[in-house]
Amino acid sequence: VLVLGIETSCDETAASVVSRETEGRGEILSNVILSQFDEHAAYGGVVPEIAARAHVEALDRVVQAAMDEAGVGFADLDAVAATAGPGLIGGVIVGLTTAKALALAAGKPLVAVNHLEGHALTARLTDGISFPYLLLLVSGGHTQILLVRGVGQYERWGTTIDDALGEAFDKTAKLLGLPHPGGPAVERAAARGNPNRFALPKPMFGRPGADFSFSGLKTALRIEAEAIAPLSEDDVDDLCAAFQRTVTLVVRNRIGHALDRFRAEFPEIAEPTLVVAGGVAANKALRAGLDAELSARGFRLVAPPLVLCTDNGAMIAWAGAERLALGLLDDLAAPARPRWPLDQLAAPMLGSGH
Ligand code: ATP
Ligand code: FE
Ligand code: MG
Repeated sequence: VLVLGIETSCDETAASVVSRETEGRGEILSNVILSQFDEHAAYGGVVPEIAARAHVEALDRVVQAAMDEAGVGFADLDAVAATAGPGLIGGVIVGLTTAKALALAAGKPLVAVNHLEGHALTARLTDGISFPYLLLLVSGGHTQILLVRGVGQYERWGTTIDDALGEAFDKTAKLLGLPHPGGPAVERAAARGNPNRFALPKPMFGRPGADFSFSGLKTALRIEAEAIAPLSEDDVDDLCAAFQRTVTLVVRNRIGHALDRFRAEFPEIAEPTLVVAGGVAANKALRAGLDAELSARGFRLVAPPLVLCTDNGAMIAWAGAERLALGLLDDLAAPARPRWPLDQLAAPMLGSGH
């Protein structure tokens, strides 16, 4: 089964062709990602209108490149999948409308994919893991702990009540004069810094449940920074080290609660799996903290390669293939949704919409 996937919900214009064998294994035939990094760099963040226009300009050739690289034609496809939300609505409309046009022209079914479901199912493409498992999604826009029961079946066990973790990295970087995107810059500075010089609050640490909060941490960091301004390079390094150590401790604590809950609900699973996804999963200190917490509790960590953890078309093509296998197709009226919580996936239409 061959599926073309299109992703345009943020600042990556991406398309991919994925094949799914009957026993459920996947193979990525192409994975083309055009990052709009330069377009947004001057603004220190993603500008929605600029993103939407850049998707319009780039998408046709990104799709063509994905098809060429895979060596397939539109007639060979079994479905066309695209992110239908959540995300920046202008970009989502560009990708979804393009997918509808291609599906209509080629006479193929359409799958309107929830972007978060793409992240949630990626580990099945890369590692063939089976349901149920836990997902920690830590990206620029999301910080969630999800129970993945099956395709279309998600329970949100934890979420941030304010900023996403990637956003907290980005805002910290901006505050300290480091370049965007902030995560890698903060990680580099933190590696040089002393994490013990500043004591930052650990929001939500020790509280019941698995929710997160990061906005207070950012404020505390700003107050520390203002108190010693102007900042030397060492000051910046030490602040980054304190920030990174604090968020790692918080994530370990929150995920620990979710692991305990998973154990209680699925005592029959001997070695359960936690999957990490999202750009922040690239952070080595966070990974090490997670590793320690998981091995202490007998969980296995599955971390897909980074290029599949950040936004990409392969995860959308794969989610499309998984839904196609279950007959979960959409018709050409499928709406683009700026907000679309994963635990509220609309009951999909069964059968072909064509
Ligand atoms: P979403 O997928 O939620 O719509 P997004 O596209 O912004 O949001 P990703 O592309 O998955 O998210 O990840 C980007 C985020 O990951 C940015 O906030 C970036 O700062 C962060 N990030 C990337 N590398 C690192 C790192 N090494 N350490 C910490 N954060 C990182
Ligand atoms: Fe994403
Ligand atoms: Mg991104």
